[in-house]
Amino acid sequence: MDMAKGILGKYDVVVVGARCSGAATAMLLARQGMSVLLVERDRLGADTLSTLALMRAGVLQLHRWGLLDRLRAAGTPPIRTTSFVYGDEDITLPIKPRDGVDALYAPRRTVLDALLAEAAKEAGAHVLHGPRLVDLVWAEDGRVIGAVIEDRERNVYPIGASLVIGADGLKSTVARLVDAPVYLEGKHAAGTVYAMWSGLENRGNRWYYRPGLAVGTIPTNDGNTCLFAGTGGRRFHDEIQADTTAGFHRIMEECSPSLADEMRAGGLSERYRAFPGHPGVYRRSYGPGWALVGDAGYFKDPITAHGITDALCDAELLARAVGRGTDAALADYQSARDALSRELFEITDAIAGYEWDIEELKQLHLKLSKAMNREVEAMLELNGDLNPPRMAEIAKPPRR
Ligand SMILES: Cc1cc2nc3c(=O)[nH]c(=O)nc-3n(C[C@H](O)[C@H](O)[C@H](O)COP(=O)(O)OP(=O)(O)OC[C@H]3O[C@@H](n4cnc5c(N)ncnc54)[C@H](O)[C@@H]3O)c2cc1C
Repeated sequence: MDMAKGILGKYDVVVVGARCSGAATAMLLARQGMSVLLVERDRLGADTLSTLALMRAGVLQLHRWGLLDRLRAAGTPPIRTTSFVYGDEDITLPIKPRDGVDALYAPRRTVLDALLAEAAKEAGAHVLHGPRLVDLVWAEDGRVIGAVIEDRERNVYPIGASLVIGADGLKSTVARLVDAPVYLEGKHAAGTVYAMWSGLENRGNRWYYRPGLAVGTIPTNDGNTCLFAGTGGRRFHDEIQADTTAGFHRIMEECSPSLADEMRAGGLSERYRAFPGHPGVYRRSYGPGWALVGDAGYFKDPITAHGITDALCDAELLARAVGRGTDAALADYQSARDALSRELFEITDAIAGYEWDIEELKQLHLKLSKAMNREVEAMLELNGDLNPPRMAEIAKPPRR
């Protein structure tokens, strides 16, 4: 096959999965001068499940990497306000321009993931869409020393690597192959249904809540708005899952009759998509010759719309650790990631339980806002500081 000539041999790093965590990690490693192979089984620009919203730290990362202008040039609309609508009480907050972030964005994954993969390629990574990782290569002492990838004709190719990074999502093959232990799990798995809707005005990110329910609007590319409806796992399972379209509209009407009304001015532009939920999870994310990044190492419910932002921050922490070139640095990466994400994980799990009343939810949102500010501060501290990394400082326990 054509691909073989290009990939046989040895790389410093093989990254498996070329979406937000993998493509960003590959880009950063290639920018450090490493030889990188980035392998993705999907085609370039394929869509995936996502309600698309980036939080400030995620936008900041794209800005720092010089990619925010491209995102805007791709027609991704700025989001200038966030509204929290608790029952009938509307709290609308402006997104303050600072640190190079003028607005929030919610790019289609067809745009964001492709843009990151292109940036990895420009940085010198060898990027392959189509083949998939099927196995790892192990040394006698148990160290991972390569990856086995299979093309669409089922030819397999062993490739040497000093490090194999699993950026291959929640059901990570790399995590399974290295038997990465789970060391923390969330309690809740909420259900979400979402759809792209045309014809709505960009009135920012709007999150609406009533006990047991959440809906929202997230403006994205091509004049579409992502509309989502979420509820607790039990109700989703008992009532929504059998007919997710009807369930989506029922939750909309119950949670925000005004949004349900507004929707009638526009129309569905793509099919409804449902996610039945999965509890949050932390997996051990490093070992001899391997590491995990993004959802492969750490997943949480989409209700706080933070997975992409996490992936972009994790990519930076991991790339810096890999730059140090020791197993101890990889251990620091996991500590830094956990210190940054642990509060977000717990708050998200509590919100995903849908057992709150509105006052409790407001308190959870206040905590969430503080944790996100801390995350932004930490990512700003890293600015321009590739050598030496400041992992130890980032890994300080969260200020409460
Ligand atoms: C319903 C829903 C809504 C969400 N909404 C938001 C939101 O609004 N905001 C937000 O920030 N986050 C959201 N998230 C979370 C976010 O989508 C994830 O956190 C994010 O996609 C993680 O990125 P990743 O690159 O780590 O993994 P993924 O996006 O899962 O990408 C992994 C990639 O690895 C590839 N892969 C897997 N196995 C192999 C293999 N063996 N060989 C080669 N390639 C392989 C897959 O094809 C895939 O492309 C949502 C999630 C869901 C389910």
